[in-house]
Amino acid sequence: MKPAQFDYVAPASVPEAVAVLAEHGPESRVLAGGQSLLIELRYRTVRPAVVVDVNRIPGLSEIAVEDGSVHVGALVRHAQLERARFDDPLAGLFRQVAPYVAHPPIRARGTFAGSLAWAHPASEWCALAVAMGAGIEVEGPAGRRTVRADSWFRGPFTTACLPEELVTGVRLPRPPAGAVSAFAEHRRTHGSFALAAALVMLRLAGGRVDWVRIGLANAADVPLRAVEAERHLAGHLPEPELLAETASRASAETDPPGEPHAPAAYRRHALATLVRRCLTRAVQNARMDAVQGARTDDESPGTP
Ligand SMILES: Cc1cc2nc3c(=O)[nH]c(=O)nc-3n(C[C@H](O)[C@H](O)[C@H](O)COP(=O)(O)OP(=O)(O)OC[C@H]3O[C@@H](n4cnc5c(N)ncnc54)[C@H](O)[C@@H]3O)c2cc1C
Repeated sequence: MKPAQFDYVAPASVPEAVAVLAEHGPESRVLAGGQSLLIELRYRTVRPAVVVDVNRIPGLSEIAVEDGSVHVGALVRHAQLERARFDDPLAGLFRQVAPYVAHPPIRARGTFAGSLAWAHPASEWCALAVAMGAGIEVEGPAGRRTVRADSWFRGPFTTACLPEELVTGVRLPRPPAGAVSAFAEHRRTHGSFALAAALVMLRLAGGRVDWVRIGLANAADVPLRAVEAERHLAGHLPEPELLAETASRASAETDPPGEPHAPAAYRRHALATLVRRCLTRAVQNARMDAVQGARTDDESPGTP
């Protein structure tokens, strides 16, 4: 089907975009990567009077690594995150997650912020944003505000963003140095949406888990952070039994939607398996890093 008729505007600045959004409110839609919006327009599940293409606004395509946070501009594409090489544990997490988001052509256009604005319950980026405590920055006629990811998602395809607001970027607090991550996903075919996905970032200190985040996608109507499971693990030696118990606690925090090909019980089981896999891999990576670090120290000049 062809989209219903709409006016197209391509503002050159954030204030210009906000002015158009303020004028048309719910009759307008922002166009970022267009990878979800164009499908909705074609199926006429949305019929905006005005499409506001923000791709010509300068300054929204950068990933900025700052003292306490990493800032991802509203037009940063999935593919940029797939190539992230900056010096922070978040870069490794981005590189692991990005290849699971759709296919390369979609990753070349689709944006990280667009995913958060679209709020698909299976979105890997939404789970990452919640787990890592991201702040979503929006600008509207009333000014700027930042909404924490855990109160951003209100339901499937529903967020705290008002129709007259534009997401301008996402700020992620930097995890502690030395944190390592792992990601695992269960999906039917390459490039399809996750039936269930899990991500873990943790740090070991003295062999114990001293910092941990667990994020889950397609585990409920909204992306989840498994806070109780994190509490259960933090401060302890990551023995296999504890990791398995943590994973089943994480799964108990979920409320996955049932579908004919993936009933809720199946999805819960998959989530427990994915979390255990991520925890095990992250702990292995952390231990390997510790061994390599010790080896580097041994080899450093001046070591007796
Ligand atoms: C075949 C296929 C497979 C896919 N698989 C996955 C997958 O596995 N995982 C996954 O996470 N995604 C997947 N996607 C979705 C893809 O990642 C989209 O790119 C993404 O969800 C939306 O980003 P976008 O920049 O394309 O947004 P758009 O399509 O431009 O916009 C999507 C929605 O968000 C709003 N919006 C976008 N940017 C802003 C902004 N800055 N401010 C306010 N509102 C905004 C738009 O108005 C629109 O309502 C898939 C898409 C397709 C077509």
